[in-house]
Amino acid sequence: MPSVNRSIKNAQVERSATNARSFMARFKSANTKPEVQVRRALHALGFRFRLHRKDLPGTPDIVLPKLRTAIFVHGCFWHQHPGCKAARIPKSNPVFWTNKFKKNETRDVANIVDLKARGWATVVVWECETKNERDLRTVLLHRVAANAQNDQFGINVIPPLDTQSG
Ligand SMILES: [Zn+2]
Repeated sequence: MPSVNRSIKNAQVERSATNARSFMARFKSANTKPEVQVRRALHALGFRFRLHRKDLPGTPDIVLPKLRTAIFVHGCFWHQHPGCKAARIPKSNPVFWTNKFKKNETRDVANIVDLKARGWATVVVWECETKNERDLRTVLLHRVAANAQNDQFGINVIPPLDTQSG
């Protein structure tokens, strides 16, 4: 299945830049399979979470309210997962794609900075890390725990805005 999906994706990516936009639109939708996998793993681990908080920078795919942690599930292609084979630049229209990916990266970084300023930690989970549920649970535990530890030591953590007034 994944290899079939990949070749379909590649075939579509190789098409013209005009098609590229509609292709992208379809892939921007919420509730992608990797997202569902991450929710399933979080649930199995006993985390309480909420989805698609539109009031937070970048509308994180999942948030852990108690831990003030935002989770983004990034497609390896769209967000150019470093060193990942799914992150290659398509051969046709390389300039279009390079610009597109640069914009995505700039936005991703800006969202993380904004979230941090509001007292939210960010965890990024890559699509390719969601294939195996057991591995995914380990990844989630490690990354969420790393953030919690930073909180504990007061590193780069700004108190939530609602407690600063008065
Ligand atoms: Zn990847």
